[in-house]
Amino acid sequence: MMILLNPGPVNLSDRVRNALLRPDLCHREVEFSQLQSRIREQLLQVYDLPRERWAAVLLTGSGTAAMEAMVTSLVPRNGKLLVIENGVYGERLSKIATIHGIEYVTLHHPWGDEIDIKGLVTLLNENNDITHLAVVHHETTTGRLNHLAQLGTICQERNIQLLVDAVSSFGAEELNFESWGITACSASANKCLHGVPGTSFVIVRRDALAGADTTPRTLYLDLGTYCQQQDKGGTPFTQSVQVFYALAEALQELEEEGGWRARQNHYRQLVSLVRNGLLEIGIEPLLPAASSSVVLNAFYLPNSLSYEEFHDQLKAQGFVIYGGQGTLGKSIFRVSTMGAIARTDMERFLHVVQQIIITNVR
Ligand SMILES: *Cc1c(COP(=O)(O)O)cnc(C)c1O
Repeated sequence: MMILLNPGPVNLSDRVRNALLRPDLCHREVEFSQLQSRIREQLLQVYDLPRERWAAVLLTGSGTAAMEAMVTSLVPRNGKLLVIENGVYGERLSKIATIHGIEYVTLHHPWGDEIDIKGLVTLLNENNDITHLAVVHHETTTGRLNHLAQLGTICQERNIQLLVDAVSSFGAEELNFESWGITACSASANKCLHGVPGTSFVIVRRDALAGADTTPRTLYLDLGTYCQQQDKGGTPFTQSVQVFYALAEALQELEEEGGWRARQNHYRQLVSLVRNGLLEIGIEPLLPAASSSVVLNAFYLPNSLSYEEFHDQLKAQGFVIYGGQGTLGKSIFRVSTMGAIARTDMERFLHVVQQIIITNVR
């Protein structure tokens, strides 16, 4: 079996994989309705969100579908968005705004930089018509975990709605919806939740959805339509039924294992093992541990190898690592801890890396 150290899709546990084989189902039948309702409940339970105030809206599509649905459904036509960019996914939020003709400004940073709070306040003062702020929680580009608490306070003081891309943190990092003043977050089945790719979702405050424009910007990605029909047990369009089976099972597994805190602990153990192990053989991390998520860390490539050589030699031994994007492509590689991966898999990975380094230095 190939061990996937890329940031999703992840290695599945046997119970999640087997869930794909449950009975064929029509999405207009009561069995599907129950499955969908159960997942919506389970998703809110991950962060103990009361269902009177919050809704989980399920979509068929990858994480980007959920990002696009969140931005297009919640920023009204007379709204103005501020996008914080410090990596590929922040820049993707801006692209979504551009494509849909949403008025926006960006607070741009070089990839990997910490969010400049002073710069943010200045920008907000210059643009006092900002209604929404969009930010990536875990910037998978570099492994930086953007801190949302202070950002949330600033938004709450100014009555700005906070939209969070939590695709690579939901289920494994702290997300304090209420005290950080989050309005909505996008996430997907196949990252920290250990499900199958094909389903994503938005967790949204019900009053924000109720206050959104009544004329949708898109047909397929309108959260209002989905939420209304899902509340009644229906769905506007065909959903990925088998992927739903797997997600329900993955969420059950997460709960039995002790929820997001237990998963965070597990990831933290794996990531420390990797950071320490790689450092011992001279491979340095891109960011300090305190700035990084437990979900993915980026490392400088060993001097003796290109990314392609390193990747191919690891793959031949059963491990898939992930390259850097854009200009980081030549200098870094990334290792994710997501999925059904055990400590012994990571120990074996470190051993294989060591062997590759020795072979290539000789
Ligand atoms: C993976 C990821 C996405 C979504 O990517 P898809 O390929 O559409 O699943 C969005 N944001 C972040 C931070 C991600 O890590």
